[in-house]
Amino acid sequence: MKFYMPVKVYDEADCVAAHAGELASFGKKALIVTGKKSCFANGAFEDLSGALESRGISFEVFSEVEENPSTDTVLWAKERYFGQGIEFVIGLGGGSPLDAAKAIALLLKHEAADLAWLYDAKMPSDALPVVCIPTTCGTGSEVTGVSVLTRHDKKTKMSLPHRIFPKLALLDGKYLAFAPHSLIVNSAVDALAHLYESVLHEKKDDYVLMTARAGLSLWAEGKDVLTGEKEPDAADYARLMRAATLAGMSIAGSGTTLPHALSYIPTYALSLAHGKSVAYFLPGFLAAAPEKEREELLHLSGFSDVEALCDFLRRVFGAINIPEEVLQRTFEAVKTNDAKMRCASFAVEEADLREIVWKRFF
Ligand code: NAP
Ligand code: FE
Repeated sequence: MKFYMPVKVYDEADCVAAHAGELASFGKKALIVTGKKSCFANGAFEDLSGALESRGISFEVFSEVEENPSTDTVLWAKERYFGQGIEFVIGLGGGSPLDAAKAIALLLKHEAADLAWLYDAKMPSDALPVVCIPTTCGTGSEVTGVSVLTRHDKKTKMSLPHRIFPKLALLDGKYLAFAPHSLIVNSAVDALAHLYESVLHEKKDDYVLMTARAGLSLWAEGKDVLTGEKEPDAADYARLMRAATLAGMSIAGSGTTLPHALSYIPTYALSLAHGKSVAYFLPGFLAAAPEKEREELLHLSGFSDVEALCDFLRRVFGAINIPEEVLQRTFEAVKTNDAKMRCASFAVEEADLREIVWKRFF
């Protein structure tokens, strides 16, 4: 067994300002990688720029990261900032800027790095130091080495084969107070999928179980906020963010499995939010899992059975419709991908995959 979680995590209110000194340890010039708008409205950019200025760290801002960021975007950032003395990269925002920041940190480290390098496991993976400041409660990217990018040339999304772990993650739930309810739901369901899939993964071990169990219990406490039964307060936001980070640690220890693998083509084809696309395949995957594990996962997350999970998903998302042609394409892509078919902790045959893809659960 191996427990490798090389990210220093501060999880507390106002931690960006409080740990400005840690930022200074990475260098004198930073590149902030972020989305187009949200961090300028939710206070995250103000906190970060204040922290950098307080330590005399200069910075550039690349605020062009789109949802489901593409390889074109990270290559564009390299073109703009290579050779400008950037010493470390700060991803600020949802999973999209965080994933983009990791890829940009790799590209800025190596003059020759290009698209082929990004997807070539044989090329060096060392990158500039990365700091992540999440403002959603889903991807856990702040504690994983994973970067998922959209490949327009392949009409899907693909993870890089390189593992680029951030050096530092700063978690402050207060940024969630500015997020629309739909974003909190989408990202929290993504975290739930990480918690389930990491445990139902062939690489799961006791360390994955430890982080997943802790994450599921915290997640369950935030469930009423997702259904709208409770008005969220600061403690709810902090819990949802912590649950997502624990889920990230779980997938860093094992990985995601079929719901994630199946989600990428529908996300690309329909511009579906990542969490929503994964949710479509989640009940079917759980239904196919061994009873003992399924029951533990459902119980810890506050659901009596798969039907109760489906009721919850119906309530927060309504009906999700994926056209037949898109389902067929994602089925074919995953069915022919041996690694994906074998990564669940239980045997998945073609007939099981068919059921996960086509049986309507909610
Ligand atoms: P996101 O794509 O980063 O952001 C979605 C939207 O939310 C954007 O419009 C963003 O606006 C806005 N937003 C972000 N934080 C906000 C806040 N606090 N208040 C208001 N608006 C806010 O969403 P995400 O679900 O966190 O990330 C999804 C991406 O992560 C996908 O590409 C997925 O593949 C990836 N992912 C990565 C991992 C991993 O381990 N690395 C795991 C799962 C998923 P702006 O654009 O204006 O900022
Ligand atoms: Fe995910």
